Amino acid sequence: MKVKQLSLIFGLALGVLAGCAGTRTESIATLTASPQVQEAATVIPAEGIRRLVEGNTRFVSGYTLHPRQNPSRRTDLATSQYPFAVILGCADSRTGPEILFDQGLGDLFVVREAGNVVDNHTIGSIEYAVEHLHVPLIVVMGHERCGAIAAARDTVAAKGQAEGHIESLVAAIRSAVEATAGQDAEATCKANVRNVVLALRTCEPLLRRMVDEDRVKVVGAYYDLDTGAVTFMEGK
Ligand SMILES: [Zn+2]
Repeated sequence: MKVKQLSLIFGLALGVLAGCAGTRTESIATLTASPQVQEAATVIPAEGIRRLVEGNTRFVSGYTLHPRQNPSRRTDLATSQYPFAVILGCADSRTGPEILFDQGLGDLFVVREAGNVVDNHTIGSIEYAVEHLHVPLIVVMGHERCGAIAAARDTVAAKGQAEGHIESLVAAIRSAVEATAGQDAEATCKANVRNVVLALRTCEPLLRRMVDEDRVKVVGAYYDLDTGAVTFMEGK
């Protein structure tokens, strides 16, 4: 059922992401690396989603390929990189993007913070990937039973304050907690993902401009710890 669900959502994602072809042609002329690396540099958002869905389907089924993790790939990437997607994920040890999307070296530009929240450092990292590496797809991925989401929900419910710098995570997630009062943690997690997606899409000056120019797409996703399945959330 999860695979069918993935296919359905993938179809929706393709619809959402349609019309973005040809947005990376400016980077192709400067490439000197292997054909595989050059191919990665021409990926459009819909193709990036397809690769992620296919890799996650392999992960769910247990038939992973562990692609592009050999010495040849390492050599290809020694002086350059052309990842096809940014994954903004949680720091949770169970949610490593290369593993659950069955991708290889140089495929994903991964930024991780507990609760997959953003601050100036993470936004700067993402801007670097988009502006300098021409990555056309940003995926904000929350997950089931996220400790940061739980901490935020508990802290808000207790009208208290989290310990140390954990409070900064609570502050970032608070609006999602308040918007999903009376609902479960999954609803809070998905609300937080939507908040972060919107924050990135409207982040001045760089990301907003690139989104408006269709040079990058920002989409949300949710990872199910039990099944291993990632579902992509419908974007606008
Ligand atoms: Zn988490």
